Amino acid sequence: MAGEPQDDCLFCKIVEGHIPATIVRETETTVAFRDINPQAPTHVLVIPKVHYENAAVLAAAEPAIAADVLREARAVADEDKLESYRIVFNTGSGAGQTVWHAHAHVLGGRGMQWPPG
Ligand code: C5P
Repeated sequence: MAGEPQDDCLFCKIVEGHIPATIVRETETTVAFRDINPQAPTHVLVIPKVHYENAAVLAAAEPAIAADVLREARAVADEDKLESYRIVFNTGSGAGQTVWHAHAHVLGGRGMQWPPG
Protein backbone atom coordinates (compact mmCIF):
# COMPACT_ATOMS: atom_id res chain seq x y z
CA MET A 1 0.00 0.00 0.00
CA ALA A 2 1.18 3.57 -0.68
CA GLY A 3 3.41 4.91 2.06
CA GLU A 4 3.97 1.51 3.70
CA PRO A 5 7.53 0.48 4.70
CA GLN A 6 9.43 -1.41 2.01
CA ASP A 7 11.59 -4.41 2.96
CA ASP A 8 14.37 -3.43 0.55
CA CYS A 9 14.51 0.29 1.51
CA LEU A 10 17.53 1.54 3.42
CA PHE A 11 15.76 4.63 4.75
CA CYS A 12 12.71 2.62 5.92
CA LYS A 13 15.24 0.53 7.89
CA ILE A 14 16.70 3.73 9.43
CA VAL A 15 13.16 4.85 10.38
CA GLU A 16 12.57 1.46 12.02
CA GLY A 17 15.95 1.59 13.83
CA HIS A 18 17.27 -1.49 12.01
CA ILE A 19 20.20 0.40 10.49
CA PRO A 20 22.18 2.88 12.63
CA ALA A 21 22.22 6.57 11.78
CA THR A 22 23.27 9.75 13.58
CA ILE A 23 19.81 11.14 14.17
CA VAL A 24 19.69 14.88 14.91
CA ARG A 25 15.91 15.44 14.97
CA GLU A 26 12.79 13.33 14.98
CA THR A 27 9.09 14.25 14.79
CA GLU A 28 5.91 12.20 14.49
CA THR A 29 6.30 12.23 10.70
CA THR A 30 10.01 12.79 9.96
CA VAL A 31 13.57 11.76 10.85
CA ALA A 32 16.68 13.88 10.24
CA PHE A 33 20.14 12.29 10.31
CA ARG A 34 23.70 13.16 9.25
CA ASP A 35 24.63 11.95 5.78
CA ILE A 36 27.13 9.08 5.97
CA ASN A 37 29.20 10.72 3.18
CA PRO A 38 28.97 14.45 3.94
CA GLN A 39 29.48 16.94 1.11
CA ALA A 40 29.54 20.01 3.38
CA PRO A 41 30.17 20.74 7.08
CA THR A 42 26.42 20.40 7.59
CA HIS A 43 24.93 17.63 5.47
CA VAL A 44 21.74 16.28 6.98
CA LEU A 45 19.03 14.21 5.31
CA VAL A 46 15.42 14.85 6.29
CA ILE A 47 13.12 11.97 5.41
CA PRO A 48 9.42 11.27 5.90
CA LYS A 49 8.68 8.17 7.95
CA VAL A 50 6.30 7.03 5.22
CA HIS A 51 7.80 5.52 2.08
CA TYR A 52 7.40 7.36 -1.23
CA GLU A 53 9.95 7.09 -4.01
CA ASN A 54 10.77 10.79 -4.24
CA ALA A 55 9.74 14.19 -2.89
CA ALA A 56 7.39 14.99 -5.77
CA VAL A 57 5.43 11.76 -5.28
CA LEU A 58 5.35 12.43 -1.52
CA ALA A 59 4.02 15.97 -2.08
CA ALA A 60 1.23 14.68 -4.34
CA ALA A 61 0.19 11.94 -1.92
CA GLU A 62 0.85 13.55 1.47
CA PRO A 63 1.28 17.33 1.10
CA ALA A 64 1.21 17.96 4.86
CA ILE A 65 4.11 15.55 5.38
CA ALA A 66 6.04 17.13 2.50
CA ALA A 67 5.60 20.45 4.33
CA ASP A 68 6.85 18.78 7.53
CA VAL A 69 10.03 17.73 5.68
CA LEU A 70 10.66 21.35 4.62
CA ARG A 71 9.92 22.68 8.11
CA GLU A 72 12.39 20.21 9.57
CA ALA A 73 15.00 21.16 6.95
CA ARG A 74 14.77 24.71 8.23
CA ALA A 75 14.97 23.51 11.84
CA VAL A 76 18.20 21.63 11.02
CA ALA A 77 19.65 24.79 9.46
CA ASP A 78 18.61 26.83 12.49
CA GLU A 79 20.16 24.32 14.91
CA ASP A 80 23.45 24.42 12.99
CA LYS A 81 23.20 28.26 12.88
CA LEU A 82 23.37 28.36 9.08
CA GLU A 83 22.68 31.77 7.58
CA SER A 84 22.67 30.30 4.06
CA TYR A 85 21.99 26.73 3.13
CA ARG A 86 20.79 24.61 0.26
CA ILE A 87 17.88 22.16 0.30
CA VAL A 88 18.24 19.58 -2.49
CA PHE A 89 15.81 16.91 -3.65
CA ASN A 90 17.63 14.75 -6.18
CA THR A 91 14.82 13.29 -8.26
CA GLY A 92 15.65 10.49 -10.68
CA SER A 93 18.92 8.69 -11.35
CA GLY A 94 20.05 11.33 -13.89
CA ALA A 95 19.90 13.91 -11.10
CA GLY A 96 21.91 11.75 -8.73
CA GLN A 97 19.14 10.03 -6.76
CA THR A 98 20.43 6.72 -5.40
CA VAL A 99 17.99 5.99 -2.56
CA TRP A 100 14.36 5.65 -3.62
CA HIS A 101 12.77 7.01 -0.45
CA ALA A 102 12.01 10.74 -0.48
CA HIS A 103 14.69 12.83 1.23
CA ALA A 104 15.83 16.42 1.48
CA HIS A 105 19.55 17.10 1.63
CA VAL A 106 20.28 20.10 3.88
CA LEU A 107 23.75 21.41 2.99
CA GLY A 108 25.58 24.33 4.51
CA GLY A 109 28.66 25.62 6.27
CA ARG A 110 30.70 26.35 3.16
CA GLY A 111 30.46 28.52 0.06
CA MET A 112 28.45 27.09 -2.83
CA GLN A 113 28.44 27.51 -6.59
CA TRP A 114 25.59 27.98 -9.04
CA PRO A 115 24.70 26.13 -11.21
CA PRO A 116 25.24 22.91 -9.22
CA GLY A 117 27.05 20.05 -10.93
O1 C5P B 1 20.05 11.98 -3.35
P1 C5P B 1 20.64 10.62 -3.12
O2 C5P B 1 19.61 9.51 -3.30
O3 C5P B 1 21.88 10.34 -3.91
O4 C5P B 1 21.08 10.64 -1.61
C1 C5P B 1 21.27 9.50 -0.85
C2 C5P B 1 22.17 9.88 0.29
O5 C5P B 1 22.07 8.92 1.31
C3 C5P B 1 23.64 9.99 -0.09
O6 C5P B 1 24.13 11.31 0.14
C4 C5P B 1 24.31 8.96 0.84
O7 C5P B 1 25.57 9.38 1.30
C5 C5P B 1 23.29 8.86 1.96
N1 C5P B 1 23.31 7.65 2.77
C6 C5P B 1 23.37 7.77 4.16
N2 C5P B 1 23.35 6.65 4.94
C7 C5P B 1 23.30 5.43 4.39
C8 C5P B 1 23.25 5.30 2.97
C9 C5P B 1 23.24 6.44 2.18
O8 C5P B 1 23.46 8.87 4.70
N3 C5P B 1 23.31 4.34 5.16
